[in-house]
Amino acid sequence: MSSATVTLYTGCMKSGKTICLIQDYQNAVINHKRVLAYKPKLDTRGDKRFILSRSTKTMIPAIELSLDGKELLIDASLSKAIPTLYIVDEAQFLNDVSWVNAVVAMGHSLSFSSLSNDKDGNSWKITSVLTSLADLIIHMHARCDFCGNPANFNLFQPGNNQDNISGQIVIESASNKYYPVCRSCWFAHQRK
Ligand SMILES: [Zn+2]
Repeated sequence: MSSATVTLYTGCMKSGKTICLIQDYQNAVINHKRVLAYKPKLDTRGDKRFILSRSTKTMIPAIELSLDGKELLIDASLSKAIPTLYIVDEAQFLNDVSWVNAVVAMGHSLSFSSLSNDKDGNSWKITSVLTSLADLIIHMHARCDFCGNPANFNLFQPGNNQDNISGQIVIESASNKYYPVCRSCWFAHQRK
């Protein structure tokens, strides 16, 4: 009987999902297990060859993954004799994860990080599908960038250099217009 499992780390941005993936990767390396990391080809942020954690400054080598996951499925089929851990960052960008059960049936495990909500507060479709496929679902939270309360929403603010909600000034860089926010701060900005 295979002990292969599917783990999903979900939540808003900056909630620590990628750190968990990197820990899974490093644990597999320490335990001498085969492990491969993937990033969807649509993910244009940062360096495509690595998955990196902004907070811990650690990075692991990554392979570009087509949105239908074919490179991972091909490797899983060729590696049936070697149980492998496959790690997928930013999985919300995929458009098909129907291969997940087949990969697990081959004896391989999977760890995904996937955003829960988009900037409009709607759930990412693939993340919802992954919740029905996962053995372990870990829903993570960030701290609200405006008030410090637990955050479960993503706020997008185009073109503003400063914001003055809750008396706190937040300076925005050109590459950082998304914020993890609590419900109250998210709602306050939707009504502006
Ligand atoms: Zn807040």
